Amino acid sequence: MWVFLNDRFVRKEEAVVSVFDHGFLYGDGVYETIRSYGPGIFMRDQHLARLQRSAEAIGLAIPIPCSQWPDLLHECMNRNEVGNDRVDAYLRVTISRGEGEIGLDPGLCPRPTVVIMAKELQSFPPAFSRDGVSLTVAKTRRNLPEALSPQIKATNFLNNILAKRESIAAGTFDSLLLNWRDDVTECTISNLFFISGRTLHTPALDCGILDGITRTIVMSLAQEEGLPVHEGRYQIADLRQAEECFLTNTTMEIMPVTKIDAFSIGNGLPGPLTRRLQARFAASRTRFLEPIS
Ligand code: PLP
Repeated sequence: MWVFLNDRFVRKEEAVVSVFDHGFLYGDGVYETIRSYGPGIFMRDQHLARLQRSAEAIGLAIPIPCSQWPDLLHECMNRNEVGNDRVDAYLRVTISRGEGEIGLDPGLCPRPTVVIMAKELQSFPPAFSRDGVSLTVAKTRRNLPEALSPQIKATNFLNNILAKRESIAAGTFDSLLLNWRDDVTECTISNLFFISGRTLHTPALDCGILDGITRTIVMSLAQEEGLPVHEGRYQIADLRQAEECFLTNTTMEIMPVTKIDAFSIGNGLPGPLTRRLQARFAASRTRFLEPIS
């Protein structure tokens, strides 16, 4: 495996970062998970823009100009023989504060650390998307936006990891996190949608969620389907009434949810509108791939 580290590609064995890196010491950094369908990177510019927004939010200057990113991502895929007609790619871009003396002052780190990894995308088992998955409502609350905004895709992922531990203990696919006022927010790596009364509902950004790139696409596909979309504040009681529910993220696309804690969603099977959106997503996704020269 080849990894891009700061300014060049190195073998996986040489791709090591200092124990003084503030990403390691404090979780001080940002990242993106990106994927390809064949050679085409999905929503490339939107992912790079979100990386830029996350970096700006923590006062981190990305040391590589925007214009170089598309070539770097493609070189990383090519060197690892992924992102081609045979294998879809999973790309992970990480920018940490960099190496510096121990201490919280970002000024201790003169140069951010940049890492790009590309490997074969491991899809979720088809049965998950066919039959639906179950969720646990976590005791861990989503970060308070004024404390650590969930819109910053930070390498400090403990909030999500603590919730993930709860779902692992419960034997469910993932945890659903509530916010400080008991509103539903999102899962540990995905956004939440539900259908109720022929309207698609999803928590608003100010509930404290990541502005998922797949979330935005699904909202526009729903409108194309003639399905009204409402972003709002919802509680678990609203999900109990829901006819359908699903999650979205870059690698899971649209994942039906059929059970939350002890209650089933609708009749306990993925619903017809979820199926329609899955089909529309699959049929439209070339629209969302970068142009390949
Ligand atoms: N919410 C969280 C907490 C995430 O980590 C992610 C993605 O990893 C998402 C939502 C979905 O975002 P996207 O659709 O951009 O992959």
